[in-house]
Amino acid sequence: MKGPSGRITYQAKRMWHCPKCQRKVLTGGHITNQACTCQPGQTVWMHVASDHSSPRDLSPPPSHAS
Ligand SMILES: [Zn+2]
Repeated sequence: MKGPSGRITYQAKRMWHCPKCQRKVLTGGHITNQACTCQPGQTVWMHVASDHSSPRDLSPPPSHAS
């Protein structure tokens, strides 16, 4: 029987997309905010293009039981 090795293999990746310059950046899943530097003197926050860690966040589970 193989016991738990304790090794964490959870490496979620997150793809960010800049609405200004259309640039895409791939970061780790722990990154929650990603700014683009394409606009001098202005902070452009990038949008999450794909989130591999939560692919079904559009359908929350029902919290009430009947
Ligand atoms: Zn940009």
